[in-house]
Amino acid sequence: MIGTETRRVIRERLDAEVGRLGKEAPRRVALTYPSPYHVGMSSLGYQRIYRAIMDAEGMMAERVFLPDGGDRAGASIERPVSYESLRELSDFPVIAVSVAYEIELVGLTRMLDAVGLEPRSERRDPRAPFVLAGGPLTFSNPVPLGALVDAVILGEAEELTPWALRVVFDAADKARALETLAQHPNVWVPSIHGEALPAIAACSDALLPAHSVIRTPHTELRDMFLIETERGCSRGCTYCVMRRTTNGGMRVVPADVVLSKIPEDARRVGLVGAAVSDHPKILDILRALAAQGRTAGLSSLRPDRMRDELVQALAAVGYRTLTTALDGPSQRLRDVIERRGREQHYLEAAHNAKTHGMDRLKLYLMLGLPSETDTDIDECVRFVGELSRIVPVALGIAPFCAKRNTPLDRMPYAGIRTVNHRLDRLTRGLRGRADIRAISSKWAWVEYVLAQGGLSEGRALIEATRAGGRFSDFRREFGELGHRPNGEGYAHAIPQAGPEWKGRRVLPVRV
Ligand code: SF4
Repeated sequence: MIGTETRRVIRERLDAEVGRLGKEAPRRVALTYPSPYHVGMSSLGYQRIYRAIMDAEGMMAERVFLPDGGDRAGASIERPVSYESLRELSDFPVIAVSVAYEIELVGLTRMLDAVGLEPRSERRDPRAPFVLAGGPLTFSNPVPLGALVDAVILGEAEELTPWALRVVFDAADKARALETLAQHPNVWVPSIHGEALPAIAACSDALLPAHSVIRTPHTELRDMFLIETERGCSRGCTYCVMRRTTNGGMRVVPADVVLSKIPEDARRVGLVGAAVSDHPKILDILRALAAQGRTAGLSSLRPDRMRDELVQALAAVGYRTLTTALDGPSQRLRDVIERRGREQHYLEAAHNAKTHGMDRLKLYLMLGLPSETDTDIDECVRFVGELSRIVPVALGIAPFCAKRNTPLDRMPYAGIRTVNHRLDRLTRGLRGRADIRAISSKWAWVEYVLAQGGLSEGRALIEATRAGGRFSDFRREFGELGHRPNGEGYAHAIPQAGPEWKGRRVLPVRV
C-alpha cells in the first residue's frame, strides 16, 4: 500500500496535467520510467511511446515512475504504482520500461525489488510480468540492462513497441514470446542471443516528429510543449552515439510541419533533437514562435552556429542564458574528438550574448579526455577567463566516459584521482571568474563501467543496489570483476567478448 502523502502528490500531479489520453482497454501496460515523475515526463521518447501504446488497438498504458527520492544513493522506496489507477507495478502483465542512461538501472532494480519481483531476469519466475525495455541507452550499450529485463527493442521504438507488446500478449507463455521476439532484426533477447546485439532500429520518416502528449508544470521543463525538429546528426564527434553513422544521420522535419503541430495554447515550446541549431530553417522557426508570443528552448546549440542573428532570435524567444558545448578544455582536445568549435566561435557567442542582453554564457565541458594533460587545463583557464571578461560564464563539467558504438569506444576512464586533480586545477585557476558545477568523478566511473560493461556488470549493479546503492557498494561489486576506479586493471577489466560494433575505430592516444 502507498501512503496518503503519495496519493495526494499523484492526485495533484494528475490534476495539473493537460493532454492525458483517456482510454480503457483490456491489455494494460505499465509504461515505466526508472527516474522520478519530473524527469520521466520531460522525456520526449517516453511520451512518444505512451502515445504509440494508446493508439494501439486493445491496449492502454498506465504510467509508473520511480518514487520521488528513489534516485539518491542509499535510498529505499515505496512500492511503485501507476498514476492512472494506483495499481502496483507487479499487477501488470507487461512492464515496458524506457531507460535513458546507465545509472537509471539502479532505479529499475529498486522498482522491481520494491514490488517483490526478482530483479535478475534469469532468476525471475516465468509467470512474473514480462519486462520489455527500450530507450536512448539502447543506442550505446544496453548489455548490462539485459541482466534485468526479458527483451530489449534497440533504437527507435515507436513503430516496434506495439508489435512487440502484441507478441507478448498473444503468446501462450513467456518462452514462446521470447522466441518470436528474438526473430526480429532489432530486438535483443539476452536469454537467446547472449551478449550479441542485433542492429538498431530506425522508424519510418513518416512518423516524425515526436511531440509531447501531456504537458505538466511538475517537470524540469515546466509546461513546455516538446517537439522534434530533426532526428540524428550530420556531424562526427568521436565520443557521441548520435553521430552521422547512426540511422543515416540527420533527418529534418520541415519548419511548417513543426509549427503546425504546436497547440494554440502552448506558450512554451521545447525544440528537441541532437542538432537543433543545424536545422536549415531554425531562424524561421524561432522568428515564427516569437511572433506568436511564445517562449522557446532548444535542446542543442552548436558553438559554430552562434551568429548574431541566431542569438538575437533566441533572445526574442526568451533566452537569458546562452548554452553550448566547449567539450574539450583545449583546441588540441577539441580536435581529438573532432568538434568544430574554435575559440573565435566562443568569443563571438560571448559578444552576441552580451549584445542581446543575456545574463550569461553556459558551457559544457568534459574532463579526463584521452591524452589530456595539465597543459590542456591551463589553456582552458586562460580562455574561459578571457570569455568571462565579456559575459559571466558558467561551466557544467562531466568526466569523459567512453561509450560503445563510437570511435572512442574502449578508451579508459581517466581515474577518479586524475579527474579530481584536473577539476581542482581548473577550479583554482578560474576562482571568482566562472561558476563551476561538476558531476561526481566517482559516479562517472560507475557510469563508465556500465557504459563499457556486459551482463556481469549488470548483475554486479543489481547486487550493489541491493546492498544500498552507495558508491562503496559499486566499488566493491565492480572490484570483484577487476574494475578499478583509478586506472589499474583496465586491460583485463574491459570485456573482450562483447558485441563488435560496425565502424569502430580506436584512435591511437597517449594515456
Ligand atoms: S556531439 Fe552533438 S554535434 Fe557531435 S555528433 Fe553528437 S549530436 Fe552531433
